[in-house]
Parts: sequence; C-alpha cells; structure tokens
Amino acid sequence: MSPRRSPICLLALACLLPALAGAGERVARIVIDPGHGGAKEGAKGPGELWEKEVALQIAQRLRDKLEAAGSEVFLTRDRDTLMALSERVEFSNVQRPDLFLSIHANSMPTKRLRERTEGIETYFLSANASGEAARAVADRENAEAPTARSARGHSTLAFILDDLARTEAHSDASRLAYAIHPRLVSKSGAADRGVQQAPFFVLTGVEAPAVLIEVGFISHPQEGARLGRAAYQETLAEAISEGVQAFLRETRRRDTSPSQPVAGSTGP
Ligand SMILES: [Zn+2]
Repeated sequence: MSPRRSPICLLALACLLPALAGAGERVARIVIDPGHGGAKEGAKGPGELWEKEVALQIAQRLRDKLEAAGSEVFLTRDRDTLMALSERVEFSNVQRPDLFLSIHANSMPTKRLRERTEGIETYFLSANASGEAARAVADRENAEAPTARSARGHSTLAFILDDLARTEAHSDASRLAYAIHPRLVSKSGAADRGVQQAPFFVLTGVEAPAVLIEVGFISHPQEGARLGRAAYQETLAEAISEGVQAFLRETRRRDTSPSQPVAGSTGP
C-alpha cells in the first residue's frame, strides 16, 4: 500500500489546524525566572523559609496556570539549583519569549523594619531607580551579578541595534507591569507598594518585555508566613496569570490593528 493521502483529508486538516490553534493565534511563549537557587538562598523568612523556595513554588504554580490558558512556558530553573544571572538572561533570549517574569520576595535588614514593612512591588527596567527604596531592592537582587557590567563584547552597531530592540520591549515592560500589579494587589489584599523602576541586572539583557515581581516581604512576620502557604501562592499565581492574559490580549489587539506601523521594513 502506498502512503497516499486523499487531498480532501489534507484540505480538512489545513482548515482545522488554525482553529485548533485558537483561530490562527500564535501560542504565547513565556519565560518565568524563579529568583536565586542552590547556595544563593535569597532573603530569609520565618522559620526555615527561604526566598528561593517561595519563588520556585510560585513560579511552578504560575506555569501550570499559564499552560492551562494555552501558553508555552519555560522556567529558568525548575529545581533548587544555582544559576548565574547571566545564564538566566541567555536562557531567556534563546527561547525568544513574548515576555519574561522574574519572581522574588523582598526583605528588610533590621528587626524594626522587618516588623513594619510589607507589600507587593512590581518592577520594570530603568537606568534610574524610582527612589531610594527601589535602588536598595535592585542592589540586593543584583548582588549575584558579575562586577564587570559589560562582560559581553559588543560592537557599537550591535549595541545600537540591541538598544533599539529594547526600546519597544521597555515600553511593553511598563505595560506588562501595570497589567499585573493591580490584579496582584486586589486579589491578595497585600499592601500596595506600587509599580517601580530600577536597574535590575537580570532584566537588562532580556530582549522581551520583562518585569521583576517582589511578591511580598518574606521578612515580615505575617506576610512572610503567608508567602509560604500553598493557598496564598495560588492566589498570587492566579493574579499574575490574569495580568499576563490581559497583557497578551492587548498586545494582540495592537499588533493586528490596521494602524500598526510595519516593523522591520528597513531594506538596503
Ligand atoms: Zn530576590
């Protein structure tokens, strides 16, 4: 028997495939980056709770929700392993994602501050921090970065092109942050510490719209304990997932609208 297929079958298949893919919509690709890992434990919470564990657990819950909503999800780490910030950036860029989410938990250095500081902050990348507190958070999260900031040997042109590509990703990152943050605050009931900007190393090289979420202060006695609970992690993951869906819907609307300028049309 020859493996010939009837043209009618092929035609039916060709018609069916776009419908299966959600009326021709491309599947969104999302990188989730659980902060820290291995010997880099991140901030300390109540008991034996560490930021690296909370970040991974929330990332895994978020992955399940995003996959259920039809996205393709990649975790920079899916277990308790050490991973350099530069490796996270490289991993992400290879996946060519539509967006990048880095999950962290915040902390305060002194007992007095630990007892009174709680709430959620969502960051997108900026050369300048939006305030002293934002600067301190970036400094803490950047502690794992190599000291030489420009380790990559860029030609001037490559740098300019990178920079141009990132300009659009930058405005999208702000939109992503504002899609996620209010949902996180309202669903969790946590204190609203706002959308912030700061120079995070892990966000600088990522070519997709990227945000870093400080899901709460693990150093706060009550909020820290909440962050370790499955039900609360589910609530946070659900809120982030809803924010991502809203961002993707808005992006698709924008990119399919007729007024959209044609991108990448520079010929020789
Ligand atoms: Zn962190």
